[in-house]
Amino acid sequence: MAKTSLIYHPDYLKHDISGHCECKERLIRTMDFFQEKGVFDFCKLVTPKPCTEEDILRCHTPEHLNYIKSLCAQGGGAIDGDTYAQPQTYEIARLAAGGDITAGQQVMYGKSDNAYALVRPPGHHACKNHTMGFCYFNNAAIMVRLLQEDYGLERVFLFDWDAHAANGTMDIFRDDPTVLNVSIHQDPHYFYPGTGFVEQTGEGDGEGYTINVPVQAGSADVDYTYLLDKFVLPVLDDFEPELIVISAGMDSHKDDPISGLRLSDNAYGKMTEIFMKAAKKHCNGRLIIELEGGYDVDALARSNYNIVRALQGEKFRNVRGPVPASTLMLARKLKETFGKYHDIK
Ligand SMILES: [Zn+2]
Repeated sequence: MAKTSLIYHPDYLKHDISGHCECKERLIRTMDFFQEKGVFDFCKLVTPKPCTEEDILRCHTPEHLNYIKSLCAQGGGAIDGDTYAQPQTYEIARLAAGGDITAGQQVMYGKSDNAYALVRPPGHHACKNHTMGFCYFNNAAIMVRLLQEDYGLERVFLFDWDAHAANGTMDIFRDDPTVLNVSIHQDPHYFYPGTGFVEQTGEGDGEGYTINVPVQAGSADVDYTYLLDKFVLPVLDDFEPELIVISAGMDSHKDDPISGLRLSDNAYGKMTEIFMKAAKKHCNGRLIIELEGGYDVDALARSNYNIVRALQGEKFRNVRGPVPASTLMLARKLKETFGKYHDIK
């Protein structure tokens, strides 16, 4: 059985705006469910420290760091229509990035085979110089940059299955071929954040290393497993990563109130199992998962539990069925677009 570290800090509950869907109950319900299921009997619970300003500055501009820091020091306030800072938000956002870093270090130091960072606030909409969508600092990017510096990693594969495009992560790595950044999300034509199209492929040296997989509303397990099998895994195999990182947002779940996607509880276990297999093939099993969205707290807890079971080596059902025409067309378009950059025949 694999050794799995779970990263969590009780202070993650301190950033909490009344009535907001990105609420502390998201983690409370998951931790209660893990307790009921005995998860802490077989996984190691690790408490993180906040990341440093230096860690943040590997991914964000000094202007952005100072904006969040001073906004919080002055008592907080609105950043945009759905993102608010409280006085403690700066510290808790640093603690969230620190949680991702701890997960990364657990795996890279060999203290565990894999790790899941149960952090909030989330990070994948946080861009280099601005933020949005309940995020402040880009937790996953901050972790990847630190691990690259400490371990000289030249090929990191980052996969984001949150319902929303990982526009912040893509902004940070857009000209960087050392991080192959794949986001599968609901078609952003009429969905937040309004970017994340197939045609956005990265810039300069990073062209071909930003991959957006925009699926239609209503897409479910069969669409995701088809796209992973026919497109994402061939790209991953060609890239031969030294580390795999997953930004796990469970707002792609069928019970979630804010997306039109239809994934089951099983899908999150199955996708984790698929990336476990890829990590074993390419990088000694090194797999780090970190939490992004997911706003039905019960669906989130059940999906998180399946992720942990998969990290422990359990197998999940392979859902098969007719693949919708829109998904077949998307797979063809992705292969045409990215066949220039990766050997995916
Ligand atoms: Zn989301």
